[in-house]
Amino acid sequence: MSNPIDSIQAQLAALRQNFADQLPQRLATIDAAHAAWCGSANVSTSRELLDEYHRLVHSLTGAGATFGYERISHLARQLERYLKQRVDSRSAATTECFAEAAVLLEAVRAETLEIKPTELTASADIDAGALTSGQHLVYLLANEETAASDIESQLQNFGHPIEIFVSGTALQQAVNVRPPAMILADTVLSEGGQTGIEVIAELQRQQSVPLPVIFFSSQADFATRLAAVRARGVAYMPKPLVIEKLVDLMDGLVAHDGCEPFRVLVVDDQADQAQHNALVLRQAGIVVEVMNDSMKVFNVLAEFSPELILMDMYMPHCSGTELAAVIRQQPDYVGVPIVFLSTEGDRALQLEAMRVGGDDFLTKPIKASELVQAISIRAGRYRTLRALMRRDSLTGLLNHAHIIESLKHEVARAVRYRTSLSFAMLDIDHFKKVNDNHGHAAGDSVIKNLSRLLQQRLRSTDIVGRYGGEEFAVVMPETSLADATGVMDEIRCLFSEIVHQAGDADFTVTFSVGIAAVPPVTKVKALQESADQRLYRAKHGGRNQIVSSDS
Ligand code: GH3
Ligand code: MG
Ligand code: MG
Repeated sequence: MSNPIDSIQAQLAALRQNFADQLPQRLATIDAAHAAWCGSANVSTSRELLDEYHRLVHSLTGAGATFGYERISHLARQLERYLKQRVDSRSAATTECFAEAAVLLEAVRAETLEIKPTELTASADIDAGALTSGQHLVYLLANEETAASDIESQLQNFGHPIEIFVSGTALQQAVNVRPPAMILADTVLSEGGQTGIEVIAELQRQQSVPLPVIFFSSQADFATRLAAVRARGVAYMPKPLVIEKLVDLMDGLVAHDGCEPFRVLVVDDQADQAQHNALVLRQAGIVVEVMNDSMKVFNVLAEFSPELILMDMYMPHCSGTELAAVIRQQPDYVGVPIVFLSTEGDRALQLEAMRVGGDDFLTKPIKASELVQAISIRAGRYRTLRALMRRDSLTGLLNHAHIIESLKHEVARAVRYRTSLSFAMLDIDHFKKVNDNHGHAAGDSVIKNLSRLLQQRLRSTDIVGRYGGEEFAVVMPETSLADATGVMDEIRCLFSEIVHQAGDADFTVTFSVGIAAVPPVTKVKALQESADQRLYRAKHGGRNQIVSSDS
């Protein structure tokens, strides 16, 4: 059980088994609630007993759906709907009502007796493979010409591990064994065989959620583009491929190495269901905190600062709708997406939840992969929006003011804890010429490429900022001058190898770096000046180099 995924799988299986083991007990409790309702003496106790009966059946519906016992969930839902009608009705229950509920309850019982727990467990839908193995992996379905080009090494420079396939069959097999995060596909494969679009269309038919696919093609006619859309392609790029544009698109579609995992708060009064959803999300690399007691919500929000809240709709002490409204009244949490997970088919209730600030509804039962995808998309959007405010619009890096603020903070920490810190200043070489020779847009694209490379190659604890124009600053906490120099030099080499494109022209660009460190420096201003002077010397020493000392 050394593999964490195996361990999560085992925990999920244990939760399912636990549900199966407790089914007889659960039914006995529901039986008792049914009997109590039928035997209730007056109207007001009858209402209370009915509420309790409804709550128990509702919970069985949800748990059945969560743990993969869909038949039970389906039949329990029939009974739940009937009881809900009674709850909403003004008129008192009659003996016919009791009889009708009894029939529906019997159907639930018959189902639980008929299917043995082992069979049920086997039928549960936990499609773990689809979530775990290929988080960053990209498959390329290519014809010989594209496969032979250096697309692979170019993409790898940007942090996308890539595997190339030249036949549909090979791609199909790989997807079954290890689903990728994304597929790039040529529309035209080898002469005479299937087209890339046909291969992908076939592949997509077998997925419950379509895989993100980007097509590229030497054909620009409407019919081909339409076929690509029908094969669920998310983008269509004409050839020749512009790597920067492709990487831009890919970054929008998939998390790459060095991307921090999303933080999701799961709120559910039913501990086992909360646990189940938490495990499914963790399996996909999402960081999850579970909250069973909604009264503690403010502590949890402040400490965990989630990027999304996944909330059960129906909780006994404080409903999901009420909790959402309470959260939305706090200015700090106005923007955090709230997604309800519910068996509730009731449109009016859903609209009410939306009105108080819910962002979306997911209906149980939901496949593991669909849950993960729905959550990731919304959390990603939130992260993007929040980041825009502190960040430079071209590169997404911290802007000048914020990088200086971070530098002050980190220098203070380094001095206090007697650790090292390195500060690097980068300036692109002869950048004016890039603009002059290839146009301002090409210049912008070089700046974006460098910022992307810095983000991907540096550690997540390093802080990257756009200092101004074509200058960047990097704060590297707990990094010695020697280590910082090594890392920056690797990035310098990599960047110098990237082939940029503008129209028909290919060109390469370099940058120069000055680095200074704590210790010996202890003041922010002195650190900035030292790095700046060293950068100046790197320029005068011939550019495309790093200077990290004064000698
Ligand atoms: P050196 O090697 O000495 O650094 O030469 P250089 O040409 O890079 O330096 P210089 O400071 O003379 O020119 C920088 C140029 O960068 C001038 C400015 O127009 C351009 N620039 C600054 N910000 C941007 C931007 O956001 N986009 C583009 N395309 N160009 C920019
Ligand atoms: Mg400059
Ligand atoms: Mg420059």
